[in-house]
Amino acid sequence: AIPLVMSRSTSIAATNGLIIRDNQAMENSRKIDYIAMDKTGTLTEGKFTVNGVISLSDLTEDKLLSLVSGLENGSSHPIANSIVKYAQDKKVSATDFEDVQAIKGYGMSGRVAEKTYYLVNLKYLKKENIPVDNKLVKTYLDKGNTISYLVTDKQVLGFVALGDKIKPNTVEFIKELKARNITPIMLTGDNQAAAATMAKQMGIEEFRAELLPEDKNRVIKDLELSGHHVIMVGDGINDAPSLAAATIGVAIGAGTDVAIDSADVILYNSDPSDIIKFLKLSHNTYRKTV
Ligand code: ADP
Ligand code: MG
Repeated sequence: AIPLVMSRSTSIAATNGLIIRDNQAMENSRKIDYIAMDKTGTLTEGKFTVNGVISLSDLTEDKLLSLVSGLENGSSHPIANSIVKYAQDKKVSATDFEDVQAIKGYGMSGRVAEKTYYLVNLKYLKKENIPVDNKLVKTYLDKGNTISYLVTDKQVLGFVALGDKIKPNTVEFIKELKARNITPIMLTGDNQAAAATMAKQMGIEEFRAELLPEDKNRVIKDLELSGHHVIMVGDGINDAPSLAAATIGVAIGAGTDVAIDSADVILYNSDPSDIIKFLKLSHNTYRKTV
């Protein structure tokens, strides 16, 4: 039978935006000293605005946008959704690509007229030794933009700069974590400059950028191995291994089935600050039972 205090907690949890899938998580919450959080969709809205479509070649802006939205038609990433919508609003039709593929952690690729195009991040350019030193790129990066570069034949043809908004409760939430002696660390696949700008605005001192999904998992495992107890908060399929490696895995939003299966707690209103409610509820529950 479910103990009375526990069943009461479960219904309190539901009214606070929480689904607690494993009651052990409530007991474990006392040990937590670190909280690792995915950036996009967890601390930010994950809804991007296109701030610039910039050609660095003889392509017109419309042609660039047509190629970029053609590649993004095959993706459901938040970056892709906003680019496709932006092109539709501008009445720019998407280029028809063959063999459109996702390149995990980097972006997209596709083929048209015997040429392969890539829409990728800075991490990919570094890996492939493709140079991009441009003043405009730097200006957008320093403002916290996420940038996707259009590449063919190892040449950058242009780029799209996108901005995301910090969720309304994020800043207050970070303050409350610190007041509870829980150290926040932000983990992201996004570029170093955007991560630094966003972390600063959120009041987060520790962050890791340009991470592949397996790198996020490694960060969690290393923290746990060095004696820390970590809550990991994430939303995507990619985050599932990290949720499983943490002392407490938290899936945020409707998420994916995979992330939800690996989570101990689900925040179904997509509000990270509901974690504070989880910590308070756990504290009260265990004060009553022990
Ligand atoms: P995150 O949730 O931190 O963005 P992801 O693993 O979903 O992590 O993506 C990592 C990075 O790969 C993104 O920040 C972006 O730069 C790039 N990326 C992935 N998919 C796409 C896409 N469809 N279009 C453009 N960039 C993408
Ligand atoms: Mg993500």
